Amino acid sequence: MAEMETIQMKLADMHVDLETAALTVYRAAWARDHAEGRRTTAEASMAKLVGTEAAFRIIDSAVQLFGGRGVTRGCIIEQLFRDIRAFRIYEGASEVQKLILGRHLVRNLRP
Ligand SMILES: Cc1cc2nc3c(=O)[nH]c(=O)nc-3n(C[C@H](O)[C@H](O)[C@H](O)COP(=O)(O)OP(=O)(O)OC[C@H]3O[C@@H](n4cnc5c(N)ncnc54)[C@H](O)[C@@H]3O)c2cc1C
Repeated sequence: MAEMETIQMKLADMHVDLETAALTVYRAAWARDHAEGRRTTAEASMAKLVGTEAAFRIIDSAVQLFGGRGVTRGCIIEQLFRDIRAFRIYEGASEVQKLILGRHLVRNLRP
């Protein structure tokens, strides 16, 4: 399977998602370390949103790659799919992260 171009493209998408999410998290951590009293809510919110949405796309692709085994109870991929799905809900659902970011943008773009 790994020799098929369509599979390699899927792996590339998964890798880009993973690296993008990691960079967003590192940026938020860096911003927090260098905040000097400034709030870093927007950076943290973006890291949570990008990280959890990317994680979901990655595990969804993994399920697809595993075929029937990917949705079979007892398979680690199926377990991860259910676990990662929850990340988009708790500690601030994705919609709530977007609200936080939207408010931040409106507040900071006002003249
Ligand atoms: C696996 C798991 C572990 C958890 N662990 C903990 C824990 O350790 N401690 C703890 O306190 N809680 C925990 N929770 C609870 C978790 O924080 C809540 O499920 C989460 O805050 C969402 O609240 P809710 O389930 O009441 O959904 P609701 O608040 O009813 O939201 C339902 C959905 O509506 C949408 N939504 C919500 N608000 C808005 C909005 N303002 N605008 C647009 N859309 C919106 C989102 O899609 C959201 O998923 C856990 C939940 C899960 C699934």
